[in-house]
Amino acid sequence: MPKKCRGSSRDYLTQKFIIREDFERFDQKYDMYNRAVWDRSVDPKNFFKSYDMSQCVFRDTEGFAQRDFALRNSSWHLADFTSELKEEPEDRREGFLDYYTLQRSGSAAKAEFSAPEAATRLIKRAATFLGAGVVGVCDRDERWMYSKNYSRIKKEPKPLAIPEELKSVVVIGVPMDHELCRTYFSALAGGASGLGYVQDLTVLLSLTQFIRNLGYRAIGSMNDTALSIPLAVQAGLGEYGRHGLLITKAYGPRVRLGKVFTDLPLLADRPVEFGVAHFCNICKRCSEACPPRAIQADEPRSEPPNRSSLGRLTKWSVDAERCFKFWVDSNSECGICIRVCPYNKDYSKRIHRMAFPLAGSFLRKAFLRLDKIMGYGKRLPPNEWWGL
Ligand code: SF4
Ligand code: SF4
Repeated sequence: MPKKCRGSSRDYLTQKFIIREDFERFDQKYDMYNRAVWDRSVDPKNFFKSYDMSQCVFRDTEGFAQRDFALRNSSWHLADFTSELKEEPEDRREGFLDYYTLQRSGSAAKAEFSAPEAATRLIKRAATFLGAGVVGVCDRDERWMYSKNYSRIKKEPKPLAIPEELKSVVVIGVPMDHELCRTYFSALAGGASGLGYVQDLTVLLSLTQFIRNLGYRAIGSMNDTALSIPLAVQAGLGEYGRHGLLITKAYGPRVRLGKVFTDLPLLADRPVEFGVAHFCNICKRCSEACPPRAIQADEPRSEPPNRSSLGRLTKWSVDAERCFKFWVDSNSECGICIRVCPYNKDYSKRIHRMAFPLAGSFLRKAFLRLDKIMGYGKRLPPNEWWGL
């Protein structure tokens, strides 16, 4: 059983990651995708062009053929389409740089709730119905809000302001397809993240609309506005792993995250622990499998590898420069760290649900050995996924 942590969620994170008092919020300008626009040391080459079929270069290699890029790019289509809707007219790239403004205004009448618990139950039920795989609530924590946004059109920072009355955050996670994730590293596997984003934005837009229809203010955000992982940890969705991803009980690291800021009073969840930190200490499989060695094999550090990671706190950090360079050089997304993680299982299968607690117990070493012997985490040849 996951252990719920005591004290405030904010204090939990402060202690867990030894967050210094002079901690500074992340500036969106330093995100690798944005650095590719303004930082001469980051050359995206043809990486972004590969998402446009008219410019994409296929390869005569399994997993990188036309059909693989075709499926990947089609799964990304709606996420790209919605993000481009307001890019030219309003300088808003919603979902990736800016929060969503694609909702209707909602109801002028405020639904009444007997207590925040009742509203929270309702929101969670709605989120699950709308497609969230996992959902939790935390209080807004300013530390995770971006200090500034970034305009790729003007190549300059722009202000970011979420009204301070929006004090509650509903954090959701949407699973990525397990079978497709098994084909990382391939262009085909990028379809898992594309579809994950599309399902993520569907839940976020619908949930935001639901809250507005109840008469409250709500702003939906995907990869923009605030860091999703610390919010997800505070909302009790899972634990932080060595590969810098959230590890959930229901899907392991195979989730796309999003959040809705609202003024609807909600009851915050508690962070949970089910032994991930102890397991990562003995595992290191992601670090060993990462082609550019972007994942630390040693202890959490207080110094970030470069300016694309948070500083002034102590954690495992992925070297985003190395990771992105590998993506660019191979002209494809990578998710090997997701594929090989022993927490990445199809938990719809009973055997994996039953074995899960072993990873958090004193039998973790045996679990890890067995996991390797059973061949979990091995790459599924893309042509096999296609049934060819
Ligand atoms: S996505 Fe690939 S390159 Fe990046 S950290 Fe994971 S394994 Fe390494
Ligand atoms: S692969 Fe192993 S070390 Fe890496 S995040 Fe998963 S459990 Fe932790």
